[in-house]
Amino acid sequence: MTSENEQTLGQLSLAERLASVQSGISDALVKSGRTGADITTIVVTKFHPAALVEELYDLGVRDVGENRHQEASAKAAELARLTDLNWHFVGQLQSKKARQVRQYASVVHSVDRPALVTALDAAGEGVPPLPCFVQVNLTEDAARGGVEPAALEPLVEQVLEARSLELLGVMAVAPLGEDPREAFARLRSYSERVVALQPAASRISAGMSHDYREALLEGATHLRIGTAITGIRPTHG
Ligand SMILES: *Cc1c(COP(=O)(O)O)cnc(C)c1O
Repeated sequence: MTSENEQTLGQLSLAERLASVQSGISDALVKSGRTGADITTIVVTKFHPAALVEELYDLGVRDVGENRHQEASAKAAELARLTDLNWHFVGQLQSKKARQVRQYASVVHSVDRPALVTALDAAGEGVPPLPCFVQVNLTEDAARGGVEPAALEPLVEQVLEARSLELLGVMAVAPLGEDPREAFARLRSYSERVVALQPAASRISAGMSHDYREALLEGATHLRIGTAITGIRPTHG
């Protein structure tokens, strides 16, 4: 998307930005020969108030994403009456918060280490299994979120053995400074490795405001889109 387009987007209403992204998704699906594919568009609402989530709900959105536990749990509590709204947790997650996140999250996209699998699984006794993605680090920087590709299989095996977790597939964020299409092509190859272990875990959570088209070309099934729909995030602090 060009910066000119972005400026134009800034003048639009929430409904218009949502419609614009929805038509961008349809176009990208046509281009990738995936017309009719089952795509979940998650609107990432981090830093925005619960009122914006409610506006999105009124526009038909049923999947929203958050990346910080405190903020997410407060909004989920405030909007608890919207019982068919799904909260996707997409941020780095501390093991000690696993139990609390399970109380409101419909899906966790950021499972990236053994201790977190253990904590999430232990928190799930007697409740329905929690759908989750294993996050893969596509950068060279080991400090970034996500499991190193070399350690993918052992982590996936652990999730598959966890009784209270249901593996949907892989998730990643494209690195800055790299062609996102190339990064998402690598993610697709990691997805194939996961599918070799569990054919049902074929979903791919990838694609944000600036790169959802490339993600769709590489098989994404779950898009996580913030600013292109919500507008610029309010600063927090
Ligand atoms: C914030 C965030 C997004 C959305 O980013 P935009 O560039 O605003 O679309 C997607 N995924 C994760 C993990 C995020 O933290």
